[in-house]
Amino acid sequence: MFFWFLGTAVIAVWFVFRDEKFDYRTLMVGALLPDIIDISTGGVWVFHSVTASVVALAAVMAVWRRGSSRRRSLLGVPIGMFFHLVFDGAFANTETFWWPFTGLTMESASVPSVERGLLNVLLEVAGLAMLAWVWRRAALAQPHHRRLFIASGVLYDRINRTSTTQEPPTC
Ligand SMILES: [Zn+2]
Repeated sequence: MFFWFLGTAVIAVWFVFRDEKFDYRTLMVGALLPDIIDISTGGVWVFHSVTASVVALAAVMAVWRRGSSRRRSLLGVPIGMFFHLVFDGAFANTETFWWPFTGLTMESASVPSVERGLLNVLLEVAGLAMLAWVWRRAALAQPHHRRLFIASGVLYDRINRTSTTQEPPTC
C-alpha cells in the first residue's frame, strides 16, 4: 500500500485545508509512516493509534515556534499520519486505535494494509488515479511547478490560484 495513502492524504488536504502554502512533501511522509514503522516492528502497533498522531502533533507544536516555516512545514507529518488511520480503516481495530485508553495491552493484530490482500490492488489503482488528478490540476508537467513542489512542498493550483490572486473589488 503506497499510492492509496499518498493519493487519499493529498486529496483530503487539498479539499479540506485549501491552504496554498501547505507542504505536501511532509504530508506524504506522514501518510506512509504508520505502515513503515509498524510493519518493520512486527505488526499493527502504536503508530496505528490516534495517540501517535496526537503526540506527533503536540511535539511539533512544542518544539517549533508558532509561525515558523519549519513548524508550518512539519505539521504535514501528524496530519498525514492521521489521514493514514482514516483511509486505512484503522478505527475498526478499537483496541489499537484507542490505545492506551482501552488498555495498555495490544493484541497482536496484522497491519490492515497486509490483511486486505487483493483489495489492495483496487485501492492502489484508485490512489494512482487521485495522484494523476493532482498531477494535472497542479500542472506538474511544467518544470517550474515541479521545482516549486520539490523545493517547498507547495502544489500550484491552476484553477483556484487565479481567483485568489485576483484584485479585491474597489468600492
Ligand atoms: Zn496502516
